[in-house]
Amino acid sequence: MTPYQLLERLFPINRSITGQGVEESLEIIKTLLPALRILKIPSGTQCFDWVVPEEWYARNAFLEDDSGERILDFKENNLHLVGYSTPIDTILPIEELQEHLYSLEELPDAIPYVTSYYKKRWGFCLSDRQRKALKPGNYHAVIDSSFKKGSLTYGELIIPGDKEQEVLLSTYICHPSLANDNLSGPVVLTFLAEWLSSLPSRKYTYRIVYTPETIGAISYLHKNLEQLKKRVIAGFIFTCLGDERTWSYLPSRNGNTLSDRVAKYVLNKFVPAYTTYSFLDRGSDERQYCSPGVDLPIASIMRSKYGTYPEYHTSLDNLGFVTDEGLNQSLELYKNVIGIIEKNATYKTTCLCEPQLGKRGLYPTISTKKTMGTTKDLMNLIAYADGSRDLLSIAEHIQVDFDICVENAERLREATLFNMCEVVNKI
Ligand code: ZN
Repeated sequence: MTPYQLLERLFPINRSITGQGVEESLEIIKTLLPALRILKIPSGTQCFDWVVPEEWYARNAFLEDDSGERILDFKENNLHLVGYSTPIDTILPIEELQEHLYSLEELPDAIPYVTSYYKKRWGFCLSDRQRKALKPGNYHAVIDSSFKKGSLTYGELIIPGDKEQEVLLSTYICHPSLANDNLSGPVVLTFLAEWLSSLPSRKYTYRIVYTPETIGAISYLHKNLEQLKKRVIAGFIFTCLGDERTWSYLPSRNGNTLSDRVAKYVLNKFVPAYTTYSFLDRGSDERQYCSPGVDLPIASIMRSKYGTYPEYHTSLDNLGFVTDEGLNQSLELYKNVIGIIEKNATYKTTCLCEPQLGKRGLYPTISTKKTMGTTKDLMNLIAYADGSRDLLSIAEHIQVDFDICVENAERLREATLFNMCEVVNKI
């Protein structure tokens, strides 16, 4: 299966913050990640300042005019129904119906995505063109939905590494038929997790999380905060990874964590024309993961960021907006991010003053312009290896490619001039 094929498979399912759609989606993802655990938190559970809501089920919803002609049907596009709509079966004049309709004047052909999780209401979404064509008269509005005390469902996969320290990779799975925001996130994360699982070994442990946005991240933190604070050295929110228009970066609240440094390094190296946002532009689960007292090092690398592209949260963010190429490029970029986190390390030189490289075979016996460059790279690496800066930080400072610094550090370790420090520089 390709990332795009997985996205196509998940696209028609009506997801919300609770209910069958999330579970059905996780079961499909589990076919690719058999070790994925599907877990539940009961409705009514208090999680910090929030309460896990009741489960919402939507079976059917439609709107008919007084001649019985069906104007819109939830079964044709699940965006037609306002998420968490209360049940209704009523006949009402168009003037009253208008209060329950949502459309976008500026995008007349798009059906908007609207939810009302915490205030009970009902409503339909439709294109503005369709709304303006509605004739005067009475309409039959039917929403067959229900709420029950159930649970919030999420997925968790722990891929063990040599160390207990963890990299947290989190995505949300609460949007219905919307492709870039947000199915591209779970899709890319699933293929990245499959790749991580297939590696012969890993230095770090990887914690892969699929939750509904906001309430899911809050309840996940409520359950796992102490462990996350102790173990997580880096992490990312996976969202908006499917189109080919642009690349973007949203920092953590701190702005200079290991996650931020790796994200910027990889973007600068492979796709330097990216857009840098501020933490003030945040909108996803970094709001929870980076909140005061939680303070996890969580950043995001995205393509077209949520809230910035016209198709966002409308029926135009569909299977035509994202591409196989876009998803695969995002997957490859994230593999590079993981590669750097795995290879990054902190070293301390074992020698006071400059070591004599010649007697260790590390100094070229003939001096040319090229060997001078190589020796300088080695000497600069040694000059900053005081145990306080990691290789990524030194690579950026001495302006030498990270992979060359990794090779040089290995040569110096073999020559017993470098000791690896246990400390991981999260910041
Ligand atoms: Zn969204």
